[in-house]
Amino acid sequence: MISILASIQPHEQTVIVNVMMTSAYVIAAALFILSLKWLSSPQTARRGNLAGEFGMTIAIIGALMTGHIVTYDWIIVGFVIGAVLGVPMAVFMPMTAVPQRTALSHAFGALAAALVGTAHYFLFDLRNYPPTSLIMFFLCLEVLLGALTFTGSLMAFGKLQDLLPTRPMTYKNQNLYNFALLGAAVVCAAVLIVHPQFAWLFPILLLLALTFGVLLILPIGGADMPTVIALLNSYAGLSASMMGFVLGNKLLIIAGALDGASGLILSIIMCKAMNRSFANVLFGAFGQVQASAAVAEKKNVRSTGPEEAAEILGAAQLVVVIPGYGMAVAQAQHKVRELYDQLTRRGVEVKFAIHPVAGRMPGHMNVLLAEAEIPYDKLVEMDEINGDFPQTDVALVVGANDVVNPAARHDKSSPIYGMPILNADKAKTVIAIKRTMNPGFAGIDNELYTLDQTLMLFGDAKQVISAVTKALAENGR
Ligand code: NAP
Repeated sequence: MISILASIQPHEQTVIVNVMMTSAYVIAAALFILSLKWLSSPQTARRGNLAGEFGMTIAIIGALMTGHIVTYDWIIVGFVIGAVLGVPMAVFMPMTAVPQRTALSHAFGALAAALVGTAHYFLFDLRNYPPTSLIMFFLCLEVLLGALTFTGSLMAFGKLQDLLPTRPMTYKNQNLYNFALLGAAVVCAAVLIVHPQFAWLFPILLLLALTFGVLLILPIGGADMPTVIALLNSYAGLSASMMGFVLGNKLLIIAGALDGASGLILSIIMCKAMNRSFANVLFGAFGQVQASAAVAEKKNVRSTGPEEAAEILGAAQLVVVIPGYGMAVAQAQHKVRELYDQLTRRGVEVKFAIHPVAGRMPGHMNVLLAEAEIPYDKLVEMDEINGDFPQTDVALVVGANDVVNPAARHDKSSPIYGMPILNADKAKTVIAIKRTMNPGFAGIDNELYTLDQTLMLFGDAKQVISAVTKALAENGR
């Protein structure tokens, strides 16, 4: 290949390289779009992942062909550092830590965009050839979004990893001060767009954006971090897209826009599934201790053991399993699969009810159940399964809490009022597996546990389900 290129005239070589680079960018962009489409269904998600990875490889090869590369040495150093940090993170961080892993990768992506923008600005000959206002507009937006996403994502990581308090950290007139800070950053950007040579303003813009990122996230409760991360994903994508305009790289514009749009759509879906508005998530300080929850009246709780639970499940015709965050923490999905096998072998029909925000990230339950090879047609979305609960003999709640809390339907004072839930309380019998009577993510009591038809099966989900499956197998002999 190299010898063929060497025998071609220099201007022809440039044309060939340009055609190859453009083709690589078109193929990569098409693969990114296909990747997003395939990622939206569990059946095609693996293919979507591969298409995204393949597209990114082609995009990197295309970018390395541009001829603008000054030296490959630093690219190799960056590649090695990225691989040394990224591979262990991908291999060793557990599935339940995916939200914080995502926060970290956004932080680094946004930092890269902010640094590229900063370097680009200081490389301009500001006195003799200042950049146009249009370029400055894109550059300021890139740096503003990149810097605030960097510190915001680090704060989100800290909250999810319990390095920072997960409760909303609030003070009087907080939103007012935060908006004033953002306003000051926007004013700096506006002045720089008109007068790019005011270089002393650039570090101030950077500092204000970095500070705003911290202050934007601190008042948001840990409970809302997955939604915030999807929003930060959107900001990081927009920042990359702006970087594409500054550098004149069309693929960056496309990839950044896709990232920005998909992050925004995802956060809208999550807000809708929780019946919350963007403003409520960002400025509502959700997750503060609820006075009403703290004084919840004591009611009788009926508990059961694995043997009795096995008997009830074995005698049922239709069992609906409701997985939640507790199943993910306990990594109980494979044990759930064994229970599913035992029950179906006995002729019991088993379905899985999927709530859109069960767990800690969208699609969390789909991913875990797919990993345990539960047939896809047994996973039923909330709107579809809710009509089945009155005919359900047993609703088996495995570490789910908020997504089955009937207070969301009728208690106007509840922080989750209006959130669509799985109607487990309509089933003839409810068996709820969890370790204690502690509340879930939203920090509120769940009246489902004190209903007459509910039996609590206390313990770690993995151990309890193992014991139930064992008892079922022994009964069936
Ligand atoms: P949840 O309300 O957080 O409840 C999880 C339950 O699992 C807890 O009550 C806990 O009780 C139990 N648990 C924990 N470890 C366990 C173990 N080892 N074995 C058995 N049980 C265990 O979970 P959810 O019902 O799935 O609801 C998700 C919540 O996250 C919702 O409030 C939703 O709005 C929020 N959220 C989700 C997303 C998303 O994208 N999925 C995004 C933003 C917010 P014990 O401690 O007593 O065991």
